[in-house]
Amino acid sequence: MNLFAPAPGQRVPLPEGPDYEVLLGCIRCGRCLPVCPTYQETWLEVQSPRGRLALLRAVEEGHLPLDDTVEAHLYHCLDCRACETVCPAGVPIGEAILAGRASAAVQRPRPAWLRFALEVLLGSPRAAERVAAPLRWAWRIGGIPLARRLLRFLPPLRDLLDLAPRPARPVRRELLRRKPPPAPRYRVGFFLGCVMNAVYGDVVRASVRLLERLGCAVVVPPDQVCCGAPQDDQGLRETARRFARRNLAAFAALEPLDAIVADCAACSGFLKEYPHLLADDPVWAEGARAFAARVRDLTEWLEAIWPEDLRPVAPGLRITYHEPCHLSHAQGVRRPPRALLQRLEGAEVRELPDTARCCGSAGIYNLTHPAMSKRLLARKMADIAATGAAVVATANPGCMLQLEWGARRTGMRIQVRHLAEVLDEALGSASEGRAASG
Ligand code: SF4
Ligand code: SF4
Repeated sequence: MNLFAPAPGQRVPLPEGPDYEVLLGCIRCGRCLPVCPTYQETWLEVQSPRGRLALLRAVEEGHLPLDDTVEAHLYHCLDCRACETVCPAGVPIGEAILAGRASAAVQRPRPAWLRFALEVLLGSPRAAERVAAPLRWAWRIGGIPLARRLLRFLPPLRDLLDLAPRPARPVRRELLRRKPPPAPRYRVGFFLGCVMNAVYGDVVRASVRLLERLGCAVVVPPDQVCCGAPQDDQGLRETARRFARRNLAAFAALEPLDAIVADCAACSGFLKEYPHLLADDPVWAEGARAFAARVRDLTEWLEAIWPEDLRPVAPGLRITYHEPCHLSHAQGVRRPPRALLQRLEGAEVRELPDTARCCGSAGIYNLTHPAMSKRLLARKMADIAATGAAVVATANPGCMLQLEWGARRTGMRIQVRHLAEVLDEALGSASEGRAASG
């Protein structure tokens, strides 16, 4: 019993939480402060995990309104979950902050342009592909490099253009037509995230080649949509629930499956959170638990099924690994990606200091909070440079976009690759795949 807590009648429960008991779990020890990237940069209590929990508690106790100021503090959080990794009381801090954002969004709807982008453009894979198509053409005719040169004196536009990725061909239709290999050992449902499909189709091609080489029949539900993470990150929890239900139904139609695999750490992390998201759903709660129990990040699944005699070779490769927050902190998946890298024969794996510290990508944080994002990115790029690596591998499209941006900003000669691409190339399957398709 907490003697300092107000009586239940005096509390102001928030529509989407967080639960008051969760907030009382914080013992104010301060262990989370030194690992919080926003606190490291500002030294402000209100920019720390403990401070954000205190704000939410003050709101629920009726001392503060959930107004624009409190909301802005909640959105300064990167949702990197580094605080959860060290919290001795096991407070689900990131989830509490997201619940606070969702509660604020119930009171004051999010901007229409944001809802359009997250609900409509990411609401179907086709729409995301249509957004990426003009960007791909702009690259093809040299428009993006030209615009970068011409508009380099207009900082907001320059940042946007600098961030603009070069999208590969979308991979969704190809995967729907793909024939499974003969006599597969596993049947795997592949979660095709919206950014992975629309921007990083070549990474997905590498992931699928690897899975097939390791004996998996890869099946892709035609009706899957975005996992819901970007929407939940921006307070649109009902939209995230709607997307979750659609994905559960889409994968249920393909059962039986040995695993549900995603090569985007933010997606695999959020798919594992479906039971929490749909805990009160009378129809889907049970199905969400069964689904989440079989979700694996690609790195987890590959490492689990990798045959000992399969040796990827990468002579002379100097490589380091940037650990995505949503793989390391949110899922606790730290060993498998490193174990996969250690399998690279002839490669020199160089440890990146504080590798799981956020790079500043954090969903759309690099667009909504560019100043803080750039500070975090500058630290990350300096750390990468100090390793002397020629390649930085990671496992999340947001991190890839951000690190590619960092390489452009700093003029660093470093290749940013998804771990799947590195392994696929080291097995020689990339060239085999090209030869087969060409
Ligand atoms: S580490 Fe956990 S218990 Fe300690 S101050 Fe931070 S949130 Fe509270
Ligand atoms: S999720 Fe990251 S940015 Fe947010 S409070 Fe925790 S450590 Fe700080």
